[in-house]
Amino acid sequence: MSGPEARAPGNKREETMTMRFVRALSLGLAVLATPLAAAHAQDGPPPHDGLLATLWMQRSVEYKASCLAAFTLARIRLDQALADAKWTAAPVEQTGAYESLPPAIVVDVDETLLDNSAYQVWMIKADQTFDSKTWTKFVSAQISTAIPGALEFAQYADAKGVKVFYVTNRSGEEEEPTRQNMAKLGFPMGGNVDTFLMARERPEWGSAKGTRRAHVAKDYRILLSIGDNFGDFDDAYRGSEAERLAAYEKNVARWGREWIMLPNPSYGSFDTAPYMHDFKQSRAVQRKAKLDVLQGWQGP
Ligand SMILES: [Mg+2]
Repeated sequence: MSGPEARAPGNKREETMTMRFVRALSLGLAVLATPLAAAHAQDGPPPHDGLLATLWMQRSVEYKASCLAAFTLARIRLDQALADAKWTAAPVEQTGAYESLPPAIVVDVDETLLDNSAYQVWMIKADQTFDSKTWTKFVSAQISTAIPGALEFAQYADAKGVKVFYVTNRSGEEEEPTRQNMAKLGFPMGGNVDTFLMARERPEWGSAKGTRRAHVAKDYRILLSIGDNFGDFDDAYRGSEAERLAAYEKNVARWGREWIMLPNPSYGSFDTAPYMHDFKQSRAVQRKAKLDVLQGWQGP
């Protein structure tokens, strides 16, 4: 305890001019020192926008339980879809007489089946942002782990004769280490079918996944789409916040039915929509755009 209330009242009478001067001087110095002290208190790790989300995803039981819940639901929906020949998770791409086609599911990889939080942690600790060069090196290390419930679900689908297609925006260069990482973990590898559909493996396969879903839908009935990003379901993911919301609402009956979403607060198109996915903007401009879209209480 310090400050006026710590001082005995009787002492005031004995205060001399010198003491008053010394006290005023110390007070002045203390006032000057306050910003320095505050700056000193912040000498710890620098702030990083990814800290809280990554802490939640790597360390919390709340995240693990959310993922388990998603894959438990996916199992129930898979069984329902198998029993209903009209059921499809690809309303745009599934055309023609698809009812008798063999069953498949379209599953994203990163933060849907594979936990890459170690890369997120590296970015936070090294004060970095996503970069395809460092990402490729991370993928090559093959240290991603399985998301809770993901492996068991993929194996369940495979055991039911459902082909599991991995529709991922990892690149062609990253296919082999991805395959090795997932094989080591025990994910179904597709047998004699190429089930790893990487971005830009074909000229028409961009980051938007509709063309790859169409490739699967030619030969299979797609029972479920599973992902952590709006783009794993709908090519409208790259729109503005308002456009994304409209596309979400248009498909509201699909969520939790043929479209199963995994939680990912650490990155995704939600994060880039406030600045219209313009990655060239500085981190400060990106952060301001995110703050600007938030609606808040005006305070007390
Ligand atoms: Mg993903």
